[in-house]
Amino acid sequence: MRYLFLCLALCFALSASAQETEITAADSLMRDSIKVEATDTAKRDDMVAPVRPVRTLGKVAVIDTLATESKHISIVLFNDNTWRYVLSEEYKRDSEVFSDHWDTSATHAYKDVELNSLPEAIPIALVDSLEGYHYPYIGRITSRYGPRRGRAHQGLDIALKTGDPVYATFDGKVRFSKAAGNYGNLIVIRHNNGLETYYAHLSQRDVEAGDWVVAGQQIGLGGSTGRSTGPHLHFEVRYRGQSFDPERIIDFKTGDLRRDELLLKRRHFSIYAKYEQDFDEEVEIAKQDEAERKAAAAVQYHTIRSGDTLGALARKYGTTVTRLCQLNGIKSTTILRIGQRLRVR
Ligand SMILES: [Zn+2]
Repeated sequence: MRYLFLCLALCFALSASAQETEITAADSLMRDSIKVEATDTAKRDDMVAPVRPVRTLGKVAVIDTLATESKHISIVLFNDNTWRYVLSEEYKRDSEVFSDHWDTSATHAYKDVELNSLPEAIPIALVDSLEGYHYPYIGRITSRYGPRRGRAHQGLDIALKTGDPVYATFDGKVRFSKAAGNYGNLIVIRHNNGLETYYAHLSQRDVEAGDWVVAGQQIGLGGSTGRSTGPHLHFEVRYRGQSFDPERIIDFKTGDLRRDELLLKRRHFSIYAKYEQDFDEEVEIAKQDEAERKAAAAVQYHTIRSGDTLGALARKYGTTVTRLCQLNGIKSTTILRIGQRLRVR
């Protein structure tokens, strides 16, 4: 058994892509401060060092594994003089996280969980020494999480090129992998930490429900399936069905995880957090954006010359005196000054 742990830990430490790398740290209370050295010398936030993606684990190697009183937990010693409790693979596979509300046919599995039934604050261990993290995709955010024009956008959109690889954010088990209406090709992964991540509009799905995945594993390719106005990744993070802003945990500019522990507050879940994202709205919003962009581009001004009147300007620009007054906050009786700039469109 001891060698099994050792082998598994080594597999992970060597960044093997094998799916049998199921070692996770134990109880967060027992967790100690292992330092996972960043392999690159990226900038460091003075206050909180961002957690680099999973490949930074490559330098840390396991040198021994010790048994504990619990048959599920062992102590793993690393070559940087640190150690960590590690939960057995069997234990994790028996974990309630992967059986409670486990539904491989529904996009949302926690429909009966009321927001008010959740604790005020939920501590979530995002990563620890052996539990990986990897950005799902790095790119420009084209639409953020949150209410827009009174509607709820329960994830964020990241522009991509169709065919770009999309990665599992944390270790976990694929709960859902299907074409799902407006979501298009959708993959939902449930993670050991209880979170679920959603990857929508994919052009290709590389994993199926029931597959175990590790952070950084390619799970599919980006695309524009479902109700989508162009290639992008719609990415959601949910806890027991309740969405919250993915930017709370990931800096999408750098791909770094903002922190390794998250204290999720109930108020972080949007008041608009319905279980069904309505992608009709997303398409509507995109259309409205386009209309607004066109309107903004069409703004036109006229500089008043001698002899100009509101009536003449209205005729010249195909509008009305009332509209000209509205656009400029003036009355029809306002005296126009020569050189004054009037908005006419
Ligand atoms: Zn979206």
